[in-house]
Amino acid sequence: MPAMSAEYDVAVVGAGAAGVAAARRLSQGGLNSVLLEASARVGGRAWTQRLAGQPLDLGCGWLHSAERNAWVRIAGETGVAVDRRPAAWGPQYQDRGFSAAERRAADRAYSAWSGRLETAPPASDCAADALEPGSEWNPYIEAISGYLNGAALREISVADSLAYEDAATDANWRAPAGYGALIAGRLPAGIDLHLAAPVERIALAGGKVTLTTPLGEIRAAAAIVTVSTNVLASGAIALPRELDPWRSAAADLPLGRNEKLFFELSAPDAFAPESHVLGNPRSAAAGSYTIRPFGRPVVEGFFGGAGAEIIAEAGPVAGFAHATEELAALFGAEARRLLKPLAASAWARDALVGGGYSHALPGRRAARAQLARGFDDRVFFAGEATHPFDFSTAHGAHDTGVRAADEALAALTRRRP
Ligand SMILES: Cc1cc2nc3c(=O)[nH]c(=O)nc-3n(C[C@H](O)[C@H](O)[C@H](O)COP(=O)(O)OP(=O)(O)OC[C@H]3O[C@@H](n4cnc5c(N)ncnc54)[C@H](O)[C@@H]3O)c2cc1C
Repeated sequence: MPAMSAEYDVAVVGAGAAGVAAARRLSQGGLNSVLLEASARVGGRAWTQRLAGQPLDLGCGWLHSAERNAWVRIAGETGVAVDRRPAAWGPQYQDRGFSAAERRAADRAYSAWSGRLETAPPASDCAADALEPGSEWNPYIEAISGYLNGAALREISVADSLAYEDAATDANWRAPAGYGALIAGRLPAGIDLHLAAPVERIALAGGKVTLTTPLGEIRAAAAIVTVSTNVLASGAIALPRELDPWRSAAADLPLGRNEKLFFELSAPDAFAPESHVLGNPRSAAAGSYTIRPFGRPVVEGFFGGAGAEIIAEAGPVAGFAHATEELAALFGAEARRLLKPLAASAWARDALVGGGYSHALPGRRAARAQLARGFDDRVFFAGEATHPFDFSTAHGAHDTGVRAADEALAALTRRRP
C-alpha cells in the first residue's frame, strides 16, 4: 500500500474492464497513475476461474459486436486466441421441449413486440407496455429481456434498450482461455496496482482529489471512478455533496440480475458438444444452457431477471435445483445423475458489484450521459453504465475507460501551467 503522502496524477477506482482500459491509456499518455481495487483480484465482472481443469467465465464470456470490440483487437495484438464461430443460442438441440413450430411462434411474438418498440414506442417508455396482453409468449419475451437487461420489462426503458439494439452487431465471439483472463491479463507493465484497497471516501481539496482507503490516503490531480452503478448509488463510497447528481444518475441505471452456473458432466459423451437448449420456453425464469462449450465436459447455464433471481435470492443450491429440473425435463431423468454442480456466480450478493449489468429505468435514458460527465476537471466517471449504447458489456466498459482517461489527460494538460 502506498504511504499516506502518496501523490499521483490520476487515481483509478476499480480494476474491472473499464479500470484496466483507463490504466492502459494513462500509461500510454505517460501519466503517473495508481489503480485501487477493493477485491483481491483484477477483472471485476470479468472473471475466469479454472475449474474441473477448464477456464470458465463466471462473468462476461461473449465478445459482443466483435468486429468493433476493443478486446478482440487487444487479443490479436497480444497473441490471445479468439474463436469466431457463431454463437449456438438460436437452435434448440434436437427440438427438445421447444418444437420448430413453437420456436417460430415465439420468434414471431418477439419480433412483433420489438417491432412495436421501434415503430410505436409506448409513451411511458416502459418496455412492458408494448407486450400484447395475455399473449402465451410473454414469459418467453421476459426471459430474453432477462438475458439482455437482467430485469423484468416493467423496469426497462424502451429508448435505452433500442440504443443498444440498434448499435449491436450479430458477431459474438469467444476467447477459449477466458474473457476474464484476457481482460485481467492486460494491465500495463509498471502500473501501481493495489488490491484489497477499497476506496471509502473521495474528497476535493486544494484543487486535488483525496482518496481514503483503510490503509492510507492518496492524493491525485484527478480521479476516474469505475465502480458499478449499484456500488455508486449505495453510498459505499462517501462522495462530496457536489457529486450528488452523479449518485442519483447511478440510481436511475440499476444493475439487473444476471448469474451463471456450471455443471460438470460425469459422462460427457452422452451430450453433443457445442449444442444449446433453452430451459422451459414458457417460463420467464428459463435458463439458457450451452452444452459442452469448446467440447468441454461442462454445461454452462446463463440466467437473467427471474431466473437469476432464484440464484441470487435463494442461493446456489436452489439455482442448481432449478437448472437440474429444466435439464431433466429435456434430457430425461438420467441427466440428474450426470450433472454435477461445479460453480455458481453470486454477482448480486457481491457487495463490490451488486448485480449483473445496468439498464435504464423507464424515462431515465438520459442518466447515462449524466453519469458520464466529468466534474470540475477533477473527477471522471467510467464503467459499462456510462456508455451511450454499448452499456452492459465488457467492450463498452473498455471504451468508457479510454474516454475517461482521455478526459483526465486533457484536463491535466489544461491545468498545467
Ligand atoms: C453473469 C454475467 C454475464 C455477462 N456476460 C457478458 C458477456 O458475455 N459479454 C459482455 O461483453 N459482457 C458481459 N457481462 C457484463 C460485463 O461483465 C460488464 O459489463 C463489465 O465487465 C463491467 O466492467 P466495469 O469495469 O464497468 O465494472 P466492474 O467489472 O464491476 O469493475 C468495477 C470494479 O470496482 C471494484 N470496486 C467496487 N467498489 C470499490 C471501491 N470502493 N474501491 C475500489 N474498487 C472498488 C470492484 O471490485 C470491481 O473490480 C456479463 C456480466 C455478468 C454479471
